[in-house]
Amino acid sequence: MRPFHYSPLPAHVIFGFGTVATLGDEVDRLGCARALVLTTPEQAKLADLAESQLGAKCAGAFTQAQMHTPVEITEQALVHARAVDADCLVAIGGGSTTGLSKALALRTDLPQVILPTTYAGSEATPILGETTGGEKTTQRTFKVLPESIIYDVDLTMTLPRRLSAVSGMNAIAHAVEALYAKEVNPVIALLAQDGIRALATALPVITDKPDEREARSDALYGAWACGTCLGAVGMALHHKLCHVLGGSFNLPHAETHAIVLPHAAAYNRSSARQAMSLAAAALGAEDAPVGLFALNRALGIPLALKEIGMPADGIDKAVELAMSSPYWNPRPIEKASLRELLQNAYEGRAPAAA
Ligand code: NAD
Repeated sequence: MRPFHYSPLPAHVIFGFGTVATLGDEVDRLGCARALVLTTPEQAKLADLAESQLGAKCAGAFTQAQMHTPVEITEQALVHARAVDADCLVAIGGGSTTGLSKALALRTDLPQVILPTTYAGSEATPILGETTGGEKTTQRTFKVLPESIIYDVDLTMTLPRRLSAVSGMNAIAHAVEALYAKEVNPVIALLAQDGIRALATALPVITDKPDEREARSDALYGAWACGTCLGAVGMALHHKLCHVLGGSFNLPHAETHAIVLPHAAAYNRSSARQAMSLAAAALGAEDAPVGLFALNRALGIPLALKEIGMPADGIDKAVELAMSSPYWNPRPIEKASLRELLQNAYEGRAPAAA
């Protein structure tokens, strides 16, 4: 056993079906009485659901959350939170809604209750990405770590097939990179393997039958496990590349993660052999990069960055940006190999087996 340090993150987690019914009790448990409900315009009906659970404890709703947490939207929400004298935040939605809640918590210290409706995993992390003038910056601070997470599987039943698949692969990416993280420890390694296993088993079932409740439940459990990994250890080349690609070319977040992951895993395979064999076993595959690519294909996810809007002349820019402030990575970042990785991801070529 390698020496390790581990600090579990404090959060109260409730998991099950119909658990939205515990929302009022969670707000009480935090000692709060005036919740501001947050969601996206597309999910505005969920604000009504939260309000009906909160009753008099609902101070108001702000339904304008957007992808990548634009600061202008946070400022509007902040005005609203102050106007209704909110004493806590209730976010009901995917990573974008959670992002808005975290951005408000950063500025106000208000406690947060998050009800996730995708598999992005942001609710389990002390990480906030925000966009100002098209530029995305990320920070890690305990000020944004949600106090309470209510996982209600029923809220995920409406997540469309394609979003379920890409969002689930986004979660798997957290766990794959956690397995070879510098700070990995035995608890996180177990969670990472179980998260990958749960999602890799559930996502094909959901793609086929989105109403399958047990598969939805397994996928949401996997999302929690993978999100916990992201919150606990540092990420490497894969997350750096997705950050650069999303920020530079405005590519959709979860799709970008799904497409890049097999190629980032192939890049690191020879320098993270044990992690890769644990990931392969969790995927039920011989080889992790090949298994991840096969899973993307089975889920009907686009396989090439060019299919989701990446410009051909963007590869060199992405290489430059990824090399200018690299994250720690098990394999040193080499320009020619990185370019090859991105070219493969751009074209959607299958990674070679080990
Ligand atoms: P999202 O929150 O942007 O949701 C995508 C769309 O799906 C939205 O229109 C939303 O309203 C809709 N939707 C969500 N759940 C639904 C459901 N159950 N049924 C029907 N529609 C639903 O997507 P996401 O992938 O969850 O989040 C992406 C964002 O999260 C990005 O900004 C990313 O940077 C951030 N993120 C942050 C972290 C972190 O730790 N800070 C981790 C992962 C992702």
